[in-house]
Amino acid sequence: MAIETTLSIIKPDGVKRNLIGEILKRFEGAGLRVVATKKTALTLQEAEGFYNVHRERPFFASLTQYMTSGPVVVSVLEGENAILKHRELMGATNPAQAAEGTIRKDFALNIEENTVHGSDGSETAKDEIGFFFAGAELIRSRG
Ligand code: GDP
Repeated sequence: MAIETTLSIIKPDGVKRNLIGEILKRFEGAGLRVVATKKTALTLQEAEGFYNVHRERPFFASLTQYMTSGPVVVSVLEGENAILKHRELMGATNPAQAAEGTIRKDFALNIEENTVHGSDGSETAKDEIGFFFAGAELIRSRG
């Protein structure tokens, strides 16, 4: 199995409700390593850029407002099959459809304020990691 890296975001609702530690603990408990992490606040322009693929969706304005409503924690996770493993830990987009024991089932407030983001493929992961972290930050923090 391949060692992959993926981008995780603890969204504003998760940070507001003091869930940073609980969520990172779930990643580590599943064998993923946190190779870089930081708390930051997205500008509207950054949120719009990050979610550019959803620009035409009816929820785009609401989503980008929400993503700028408070700080987020962005992390790079590394491990075997990290992209899919992370998505499985998160659960389905809509918490009403998320499996038992997933982060979204346990913590998401609704389909929009769903606590976490995770890259959905290797190309997206590469782009999303590059969106938040410079290469040197990743090398320094490995291990
Ligand atoms: P993800 O990969 O599971 O995060 O889901 P998507 O890429 O489809 O959507 C990105 C984000 O947009 C989701 O995590 C939600 O925060 C938000 N979102 C998705 N679908 C809806 C929707 O139908 N309504 C609203 N208000 N927000 C949505």
